[in-house]
Amino acid sequence: MARTCMGRDKRQYLYGGNTGTAYSIHKIGVQKMIRFGFDVGGTYIRFAVFDEAATAPLWAKRADTPVHDKNNFYSTIHDLFDEACTLYDRPERLGFSVPGAIHPETKILITANIPCISNINLGAELEDLLKLTVTVANDADCFVLSEYFGGEADGKEFAFGLIMGTGIGGGIIINGKPFQGRSGSGGEWGHGGPVADLDKYKLPVLECGCGQKGCLDLYCGGKGLTRMSGFFGKPGLDAVSLVKDWKNGDRHATKVIEAWCDLTSSRLAAVLSPFDISSVPVGGGLAKSQDLIRFLDKATRQKMFNAPITDIIKPGKFLLFGGMRGAAFL
Ligand SMILES: [Zn+2]
Repeated sequence: MARTCMGRDKRQYLYGGNTGTAYSIHKIGVQKMIRFGFDVGGTYIRFAVFDEAATAPLWAKRADTPVHDKNNFYSTIHDLFDEACTLYDRPERLGFSVPGAIHPETKILITANIPCISNINLGAELEDLLKLTVTVANDADCFVLSEYFGGEADGKEFAFGLIMGTGIGGGIIINGKPFQGRSGSGGEWGHGGPVADLDKYKLPVLECGCGQKGCLDLYCGGKGLTRMSGFFGKPGLDAVSLVKDWKNGDRHATKVIEAWCDLTSSRLAAVLSPFDISSVPVGGGLAKSQDLIRFLDKATRQKMFNAPITDIIKPGKFLLFGGMRGAAFL
């Protein structure tokens, strides 16, 4: 594999100041089990080293994701891995969180965000590259797996978690293992439409990239909020501004967020009722607003069968680094 020296100058430390300590532990030979986890996204490759409990990263770094150049992609991964191996003992296995579906039998990854690694057996290629055991899993599954180990879904036989970021997704963990389903899309609840109440808000039935029409993701993911704001008369507002304006009592933002909450909670109530679970962790950018998640939780519980009296939808405990942490537990 051709390697270049790109990437190093673009990287930034996410959690500085503790690498010296980690190196000392390594040097005096009392290091305990170390976990390595990569979280590959359409913008950044994030990489962290954890101890066994993985309460927080011991060391972490990120690099820009080369989305179109496979050689560059692998060289970035290799450089990050090599750097961690100068600080910590080389692990025997490594986990990768990726956006997309991994076919349960062929292990072929399909990802829209990173074309250079789509339609390949990423795990097998990474094993060749790094000479160790590699497990690749969907990013939503990794987030929920992270919550299964000490988070909001700690030790649950059945765990279901939501991702509410640019799009809407989710993951299922059964007995500590990601549930992939027939095609690798187990846990995806934002597609397969149409949303029941589009008429109520005079929203058009849009065609979705997944092949269906009127999917929730089109209206209620981060990008969907911008779209819905446009249908309500103010195009171009991003999800972060809409949530902020809603908290400040702005009339337009209130209309958009109330419609978002109504549409999303109806779908969620239908998805969650049969599982009757007590805790549903949420990750992704929208989960950073506790007020928004509380608003959604209350509306969802009111629509559920045997409506739960205490909150069930909660921001994930490891929200900020759940992808890397979940990957490290694969
Ligand atoms: Zn769709």
